[in-house]
Amino acid sequence: MTAPLTLDAAGRGILAELAGVDERTRLLTARLQALPETAEVERLEAADEERQRLARRARGDERGRSATLWRLTRDAANMRARRRRDIEGLRANPDTERRRDLRHDLAVAERRLAELTDEIAREQRTLEAFGASDGPGHEGPVEDPALVQARAEQQAVVRDLTGQITDLEHRSRELREALPPQILALYRDGERDHGVGAAPLLGSSCGACFIDLDAVTLRRFAAAPADEVLTCPECGVLLLRDTAR
Ligand SMILES: [Zn+2]
Repeated sequence: MTAPLTLDAAGRGILAELAGVDERTRLLTARLQALPETAEVERLEAADEERQRLARRARGDERGRSATLWRLTRDAANMRARRRRDIEGLRANPDTERRRDLRHDLAVAERRLAELTDEIAREQRTLEAFGASDGPGHEGPVEDPALVQARAEQQAVVRDLTGQITDLEHRSRELREALPPQILALYRDGERDHGVGAAPLLGSSCGACFIDLDAVTLRRFAAAPADEVLTCPECGVLLLRDTAR
């Protein structure tokens, strides 16, 4: 059996600080990835997109309605011309049978014209209700002020967090350089395999894998000298003891 790794009080202090610094970095990184400010920006962006989609559709409907109105107006003009021809025919034609046909045609034209007049009025009311086509100015995307504000707030929070993370990472590098290479290697193994380089002993369980350690191990840990480096027998992660403080 190889001699246990040891770490003096200064080294234990560095290890404890490093574990704390890296834990804080993980915490801030997780916060950065799940910012309520980002969720708010995404919510407003989705709402803005929906608003613009509806505006585009409304503009399309408006154009469709304008075309309808144009068609109805044209049909009404045709029908008025037909009515005029019927009336002129009636005035000029003495033939009874021909006059009966013309009167019938005139009645049809009158009825159709009345329908068209109603349809035109309805179409115009709909157009007015939609604010009608007030020309250009509607086309450009109008940025929601709430979205602009939310983006500014999100950027401020992101800047603050990334600034803190950068400082912590700088400190982490300094502390790593101050650790003995063997300890640093163990620390990196823990990070790679378990997401943490070192973990506190939480009562009788490991703070990295959360497995309850057996009584024999716990007795051994309790009896170990302060400078002995302890690792979890289950996951191999470096264990921090209160004595490090
Ligand atoms: Zn463990």
